[in-house]
Amino acid sequence: DLEYFNPTMVGGVGLFRTEFAYMERSGFPTLEEQRLVYKEIVDHFEGKPVVFRTLDVGNDKRLRYFDMPPEQNPALGWRGIRMGLEWQDLFLIQVQAIVAAHDEGEVRILLPMVTVVEELREAKALMKKALGSDAERVLVGAMIEVPAAAMALKDLAQEADFVSVGTNDLTQYLFAVDRDNTRVSSLYQPYHPANLRVLRFIAKTCRQFDCPVSVCGEMAGQRAGALFLVGSGYQALSMGVGFVPEIKALLAQTTLKDLVALSRKAAGCRTREEAVSLLREAAAAAWEGVLAN
Ligand code: PEP
Ligand code: MG
Repeated sequence: DLEYFNPTMVGGVGLFRTEFAYMERSGFPTLEEQRLVYKEIVDHFEGKPVVFRTLDVGNDKRLRYFDMPPEQNPALGWRGIRMGLEWQDLFLIQVQAIVAAHDEGEVRILLPMVTVVEELREAKALMKKALGSDAERVLVGAMIEVPAAAMALKDLAQEADFVSVGTNDLTQYLFAVDRDNTRVSSLYQPYHPANLRVLRFIAKTCRQFDCPVSVCGEMAGQRAGALFLVGSGYQALSMGVGFVPEIKALLAQTTLKDLVALSRKAAGCRTREEAVSLLREAAAAAWEGVLAN
């Protein structure tokens, strides 16, 4: 409900999950139906950037009216941009609707589940053809949530206008652990040094290639996560709006120099427990500062 989103409190919208606009319906929304939904968001945020992620169904996200072909491993299957590049009509209707929702200015479109650079190239070529001169105002971003994309980031960062790290899926794929399976959930460890090192690598590579980078997974809205990510060099954090005041207040109690050192130290730990206790301690100290003010 847009009522709860005070546009003056935030720098914009880091991740608009468009699948929710699809889930509420009984059939695929038309271009015009989509345009109206997206326009409401764009107008509400009064010119601040809104990042629209193209449809990311498959795996845990289902559409009632669309029978996905059964798959043995849906998390490793037909989802995100893989589907978009095969069902190009659906993909392009959505892209056109997102562009049409902006009367003026830049348009930010984020592609989910990018695995190899060819997918980004193909998506950009399709958009260029479908959008004509409007393509010039579109910034195309790649989500980094597949380990192969993280490791080949050097190539992606040079062709994407921005990247956004999806830590929810990145952790799932890095640890080979289903993020919704309680049986193995103890191995789902966003704060394990292995994950922390990958996150630092991503930030460093983006800086090297001058590619704007943000984080849009749940970690960004967690106290320990926010401290670690800012210390690792992330320029923007995207989180549920309810976390924004708390995370802003927390970060105001810290210095970048301290966070840089904290990030390095946490990533150098051997176990999740060591890294967590380090980050938790730092978060508690900063929170003390918030309470004292
Ligand atoms: C993520 O994977 O971190 C992410 C932001 O996308 P979603 O949670 O929608 O998969
Ligand atoms: Mg994801």
